[in-house]
This record gives sequence, C-alpha cells and structure tokens, in this order.
Amino acid sequence: MNTLHRIDGRLHLEDVALDTLAERFGTPLYVYSRQALETAYRAYAEAFAATPHLICYAVKANSSLALLNLFARLGAGFDIVSGGELARVLAAGGDAGKVVFSGVGKSAAEMRAALEAGILCFNVESESELHRLNRIAGEMGRVAPISFRVNPDVDPKTHPYISTGLKQNKFGVPIAQARALYRLAASLPHLKVTGIDCHIGSQLTDLSPLADAADRVLALVDALAEDGITLHHIDLGGGVGIRYRDETPPDLAAYGRVLAQKFAGRRERLLLEPGRSLVGNAGLLLARVEYLKPGEEKNFAIIDAAMNDLMRPALYEAYHDIVAVNAGTTPAQRYDVVGPICETGDFIGFARDLAIGEGDLLAILSAGAYGMSMASNYNSRPRSAEVLVDKNEFHLIRERETQKGMMAQERLPC
Ligand SMILES: *Cc1c(COP(=O)(O)O)cnc(C)c1O
Repeated sequence: MNTLHRIDGRLHLEDVALDTLAERFGTPLYVYSRQALETAYRAYAEAFAATPHLICYAVKANSSLALLNLFARLGAGFDIVSGGELARVLAAGGDAGKVVFSGVGKSAAEMRAALEAGILCFNVESESELHRLNRIAGEMGRVAPISFRVNPDVDPKTHPYISTGLKQNKFGVPIAQARALYRLAASLPHLKVTGIDCHIGSQLTDLSPLADAADRVLALVDALAEDGITLHHIDLGGGVGIRYRDETPPDLAAYGRVLAQKFAGRRERLLLEPGRSLVGNAGLLLARVEYLKPGEEKNFAIIDAAMNDLMRPALYEAYHDIVAVNAGTTPAQRYDVVGPICETGDFIGFARDLAIGEGDLLAILSAGAYGMSMASNYNSRPRSAEVLVDKNEFHLIRERETQKGMMAQERLPC
C-alpha cells in the first residue's frame, strides 16, 4: 500500500493521520485511499490501451456506493453477481449499458431487473439458465444479450476456494460443450448472442494460466465463426492477484502486451472483470487493542475487529499485514492477533511481532477487497463505518451500523 507512510512515527494514508480518523469515527473502521483506487484503475486503462476494451469492476470485491461512484466517473463498467449489486451500481450512477451479469444462480426477478435496466450482457452459466432467460425476455418483449461463461479447465494455481475454472468447479459451461450451446442460443428467439466469457479464479500470481485461458477462448471464438456465430466482445474475467505479503503479482503491463498480441487484427472488444486488483491495496481496517493476554504458549492481542469485519483469514487462512499505527515505546512481542468472537477461527493474524500496549491502534493492511463486502453481524456486532481519504480531506462514506438498525427487520411473533 504505497499511499501509506509515516510522519514522525504516525501512520498516514495520503495526508491524513489514521489516529485522527479512529478518534473521530471509532473502530473498527475501514479506510480507503482515493488516490490508490484511481491509480489502480488507471494502471488497467494504460496497460490495455492498445486493445479496444472495457474494464468492468467486479462489484463483489467492494460494493460500497462511494467506490462504485468513483469507478463510474472514471468510465468503468461493472461485473455484477446479483440484483442487489445491480441496484447498487444504478444508485451509484453507473451505466447499465456497461454492466455484465455473472453468477450460476440468477433468479427470474434478477433477470427481469437486469432486462429492465438494459444491461450490456448476461454471462450465462448453464443451459437451464439460457432457457429461463429466453422465456423471461420473451414475456417482457425484449431481447437478452448473452455470452456463455465457458470453463476452460486451466489450473489457476491459487487457493482451491478461489479457483473457479477447473472441471470440478460449479462455474461456467464446459468448453467442449460450448459450440453446441452457442448454436442452441442462436436459435432461441428472445436472445442475442453477443459475447463469450471466462473467469478462472482469483488472486492469480502467475500470468500463464490467464494466457492459456485466453488462447482456449480465442480458439473457441474462431470455431464459432465457422458456425456463423460472430461475437462483439470477449470477456476474460478478473483474477489478477495483489501483494498481501511477499507475492509477486502479474505485471499488468505485461498482461496488456500479451493480450494486445492475441487481439491484434480481431474485431471483438476485450472486456475485463478485475475486482481485488482495483481495491485490495487501496483499503485498510483500523482496529484498537482491547486486551493483551499473555499465555503459556502464546500471547494474544485481542482487538475490536473480528472475523465478522474481515472474514478472509478465517475463510481462506489469508494473510494480512498488521502494523501498529503509532510507534510505541514498548518492546515488540509476538502475538496472535484475534477478535472478540466466540470461535477459534476468529483470528486476524498469527505470530506477529508488534510493539503495542492496550488501547493502541493497529492497521490491518490490504483489506480493501472482500473485507467490507463480506462483513456480517455475527455475534450481533454492527458492521464498521467506512471513510474515504482524499489528500488531506476525508469523507465518511458509510455510517457505523447501529444496534437498532441491526434489529430493524425483525418482528416478535405476537
Ligand atoms: C469474483 C469475480 C471476479 C473478480 O475477481 P478478482 O479476483 O477480485 O479480480 C470477476 N469475475 C467474476 C465472474 C467473479 O466471480
């Protein structure tokens, strides 16, 4: 996170000291850097400048309205996976004509909402979904633009929970069946075949699976052309990794060059669906140390952020750097950094050397992606507030949830 730096020992994001945000808004608190978000988006725009393209930000990585609004103003499209995400994109000023709709379980109501809004494309993941979409579009007197999400069966070499492009995954249609499915789609009256799509996994640190998937998809596009089916776009999904610890993520410029070569002379527009790589390193989670608890084998730092605020460590054993916000005077000790939730899985990081005392602030880094968007109310904990930093200014972009708000939808039976 390179918008993060220290001035006289105090950690700042852009020009704002993090301790002032904690004082003002409380903890746990998600904090994002506008500059980092824009820099990440511009890096994509530059890397793929040689190929006509559209960057469809994958909303599930972080669906906060202020971030969606920022990307919409930069010209982004959006990759959504639910009707709720569509509503957010529209509320944030996003252009429905730049929205692609992914996901294996689109409901009839979600299809209607997306047809009503006039989205760019449905990324269809099964034959049953194709028939449902054809029927609903017909009922509405519309034509649904579609692509198939094909499963190219390449190993993305990432964590099994975030790998999606293998034969055993639930996603997409097998690439071997795609040609027959495209012929079927072309014969259905309320559908218009416009593209093809794949997304093989997340947090990829190697370019070669992405390049392999692109080759397999392009070969299929050429086969489809022989069947008289021509496409307007080729969507190669997201999945580019970021640095959490010591990973070396793929070089975007190199990825851009690889695809520029493959797309040279082609007529289809390139679509990309990056999520993590646009937001992950633009955000952090601020937390306060509640208790230091020395143990026989381990010392625990019990903080006020937990797995309901940041689920990635519990879910994928993911690593997040944890740093003291202000340089202290206590000597460093090794701690397991854990939350207050009644689960052994409620940890943020193991065996971290930290010079901290009770009441001190910690910053959990690289928390912009799959942090707030996965937050829950487990243990009846209100979800965090969020702040967007912009140079020396800051904006509260989401208020902390209240206890009343958490109970607002509930009713007693009599
Ligand atoms: C999650 C997802 C993405 C974004 O993945 P990242 O690894 O965050 O870039 C893109 N496309 C689809 C279909 C997804 O499910």
